[in-house]
This record gives sequence, C-alpha cells and structure tokens, in this order.
Amino acid sequence: LNEVSGVQSVRVGGGTVPPAVRAHLTSKETGAVLRVQHEVLTAVRLYLSHEVGCIELPLPIIGPVTDPGARGAKQADVDYYGHRYKLMTSAILYKQAALLAAPRIFSIAPNVRLEPLETSSTGRHLAEFHQIDVELSGFTRTEAMAVAEGVVRSAVQHVSEACLSELEILGCDPAALLITVNEPFAKHSHVDIVEDLRALGHSQSGDAEIDWQNELEISQRAAAPFFIVDYPKGSRGFYDKESEQFTGVLHNFDLIAPDGFGELCSGSERESDYRAIVARMRETAENPAKYGWYLELVRGGLPASAGFGIGLERLVRWVTGRDYVWQATAFPKLPGVVAL
Ligand code: AMP
Ligand code: MG
Repeated sequence: LNEVSGVQSVRVGGGTVPPAVRAHLTSKETGAVLRVQHEVLTAVRLYLSHEVGCIELPLPIIGPVTDPGARGAKQADVDYYGHRYKLMTSAILYKQAALLAAPRIFSIAPNVRLEPLETSSTGRHLAEFHQIDVELSGFTRTEAMAVAEGVVRSAVQHVSEACLSELEILGCDPAALLITVNEPFAKHSHVDIVEDLRALGHSQSGDAEIDWQNELEISQRAAAPFFIVDYPKGSRGFYDKESEQFTGVLHNFDLIAPDGFGELCSGSERESDYRAIVARMRETAENPAKYGWYLELVRGGLPASAGFGIGLERLVRWVTGRDYVWQATAFPKLPGVVAL
C-alpha cells in the first residue's frame, strides 16, 4: 500500500492542499492518464450517439432508494428536507425510467459506494467512481453485449491513435493494446468459469459473484477481454431478468479485462413485469414500499430493455496500464481512506 499512501497522508482543512494531492495532480503520469480519459469519453460519446443512436441524459445522484445490488457496499445517506435519501450506488432504476422519455440513453454517472475495507487492496475499488451507464429499449442481452463490446473497442481504437504521446509517457504499447480488441470477445457461462476455477484448485460458490481473488485469477489468464454470462439469481439485484427456461439463471453478463485488470462492466436484460419485480424484491428481502415511485412507473408499464454500466476509471486504468484504479482519477477516494 506504499503508493496508495500517496493519497493517504492527510491534512485536510486549513485552506492548504495536502502535498500528496498536489503531487498526484501535478505528476506527468496523472496528466497523461487524464488526457487519455478525456479521449476515452470522446470516443464513447461519439460511438453511443452516432452508432447506437443514444442521447446523453444526466441521471440523478440522490433518491429515496438506490441500487440494492451493490456487492457488500454500504449506501451513504443524505438528509433531504427531513427525509433520508441515498447517494446513488448505481442509477439503474432511473435508467429504466428514462426510457419513457427517450428509447436509448447513456450517462456518465457518478456513484458513491462505501465499499468494504478489504477492497482497498484489490487495486480495483474506489468509494466514488463513474459508470458509463447505458440503457436501450427493446434490446436483448445479446444486443446489449454487442454495444458494450463496441464501446470498449471504440475507446481502445481511438486512444491507440489519438494518445500516442500520452501512452509513451505511461510506458504503454498502443499496438499491444489494439491487439486485445482485434477479435470478437469470447463468451463463457458462469457455470463454466466456476468449474474452471475449481479445476485449478480454487474454491468458488456456484450461487454467487466470482470472488475478488478468483476474478483476478481469471483476468490474469486472459489475453483479451471476455464475457461471463448467466450469473445466478443470488448474485444480483431484482432488475436482472430471470431465464424462463432455466430457473435461477439470469439474462445478464459481465465483461472482464485481460492481464489482471478484472471486471470492467456488468449488464443485463431487465425485468419489467410488475409482479415479477415485486416477487424478486421479496426474495431478496427488499421492502417494495421503499420503491414507491419506481413501482408506480413499472405498474403503468416500462419498456422492455437491456443495459449495462462500464466503470470509467476501470476502463481508463486498463487502457493506461496503471497498477491501481486510483491512478486513473484526479481525486481518488479509496475505501476507508479519508484524504480529500
Ligand atoms: P456493478 O453494477 O456493481 O457491476 O458496477 C458497474 C461497473 O462499475 C463495474 O463493472 C465496474 O467496472 C465499476 N465499479 C463497480 N464498483 C466499483 C468501485 N468500487 N470502484 C471502481 N469501479 C467500480
Ligand atoms: Mg458487477
């Protein structure tokens, strides 16, 4: 954690910028990473607007409820005129609702997740980050996966042409990066990945998310991004649609980056049936009464859709080959670190 302590040495307040923050912001590597981040955003916006037909629609950052599906993270409260609101851990419910106004949308959405302390050493977790959040009416899971693949490919292709001097500062080879997106991304089922991990001697539940350490392992073994599909019901929120054919299997997907960079994206086809959503809420011990505004919209009818969220800092970390995700943001907030 030595390098992490760069942002850990704290003296907040008193009108001075802690030296570690200054050192981070003024380093030539940070400058190069942030220019790459800008080009990633440029490419993503162009692709989603012009190739997919989305509009960019800023999403709320507070609400009476937020995504209950965030793996072990605590939600942060806000006092909203005497009511307890939440900071968005993910704006998934608003994305679905936004489709009533426009059929294809995206947003660069800020999320706050008070991640468990043990995640501060994964190199992949921040307590505040951004998602490239996409929701598409009438899309199937397979179609949404093609769009997620297109987002990643267009970002990599653009950066490998437009950021040569930045990649040189960062010691990254644009040709090696480009090669990773040459072929269509492979697809594996959750069941197969669990089996592979067990065959390698790792323990992994078949009813849950892939453990942090196992995620690192499968990512390290890959030379190109790949999808995992069909996560089990226990691992995800009520909004991932359940297979009609295979009970307990969800029509969802993750995209995993190669070389140990880990998960880049999660997405799914969405459940939009009122009764199914309420039943799934009950199964996951969520109180439907808390979701009043959302359930009212669902009852009146929401378009069938599929969508996903790509972690912006995770994508930039991979493209710039950084050791830690905090190096891919100007103002890193690490779980448990009170710095800025
Ligand atoms: P999720 O819906 O939890 O899968 O989040 C969507 C995407 O956001 C993930 O695939 C990651 O790329 C990114 N992400 C999730 N949690 C974090 C975190 N704590 N720090 C940075 N990025 C994250
Ligand atoms: Mg995920």
